Amino acid sequence: MNLNSITNIIPVIILIGILLYMIIRFARKEVFLRKVLEEVQLELSRRKSELLVMADKLAQSNDQLRILDSAKSEFISIASHQLRTPLTAIKGFISLLLEESYGKIPEKQIPVLNKLYIANERLITLVEDLLNISRIESGKMEFKFGKWDLEKICKEVVDIFEMRAKDHNLYLNYIAPRKPLPEVTIDGNKVREVISNVLDNAIKYTLDGKGGVTLKLEQFGGNARITVSDTGIGIPETELPYLFAKFSRGKDISRLNTGGTGLGLYVGKNIIESNGGEIWVESAGQNKGSKFTIEIPLEQTKENLEKWKNHNNLK
Ligand code: ADP
Repeated sequence: MNLNSITNIIPVIILIGILLYMIIRFARKEVFLRKVLEEVQLELSRRKSELLVMADKLAQSNDQLRILDSAKSEFISIASHQLRTPLTAIKGFISLLLEESYGKIPEKQIPVLNKLYIANERLITLVEDLLNISRIESGKMEFKFGKWDLEKICKEVVDIFEMRAKDHNLYLNYIAPRKPLPEVTIDGNKVREVISNVLDNAIKYTLDGKGGVTLKLEQFGGNARITVSDTGIGIPETELPYLFAKFSRGKDISRLNTGGTGLGLYVGKNIIESNGGEIWVESAGQNKGSKFTIEIPLEQTKENLEKWKNHNNLK
């Protein structure tokens, strides 16, 4: 081998050396990467089994919560039923006493009996609200849908509250629709309860002698619209979004109404929506009055009518 051929081979050897070096580096890297990958896979499967255990625990807790929740609803329902019967009896007996069915009662006792009657009524409303909540939450609220005249309902409610408004030195106006409205398909008794509660609140949250309340019924597009406006203590903007939530009570109302529960509007919203309608509130702020609006479709959707057919008096 001469010098010339040796110098020719050197670059080839160097090239082979570089190639070998690169192959070894690559192989090492590959081994390293495989190791990392294996570790990542191991960690992933460890995390996966941890997640599975957690998901299992979560499902168990969920089941327990569901059982507890239905036990709570059942407890409220039973307790409320047990409370309602004696309260109704108390109401009946106070009425009989006031009517003097058991003989003449001294003049001094009349206001006391009246106070007893009002306190008992408050308890009946509370029990009724609790019962309604447990019905709503267990999906067992029962409705009897039929054809109802909203004008008749509104007038009845206004008549019931006329005396109370007068007692508080407040006006109570009723504005009837310009044209008679067609009958609507609703559970009239339940909707009447909601309108009563809204009107009751309007009187409750208006200071004695400071204006009054107006109930207006009108047609608004395809809906019957009932608005109850008052000149009362109003609602701060911050409280408006929470008003229809369970147990929601305004901050500034305790001086006017210590006996409220914050359940009426929650139950009311549920009832109105179950009747295919909507309820909302507007207020310009504190001491600027409030306006509650209830809208009920003049014609219910086909889906609702179909759904309601199963548990009502509709043809
Ligand atoms: P309750 O009257 O028993 O507290 P509701 O659910 O009927 O319960 O009302 C919830 C809250 O909404 C009330 O506590 C009060 O803060 C507010 N509210 C309802 N109606 C009026 C109204 N007409 N004017 C001012 N605040 C009102």
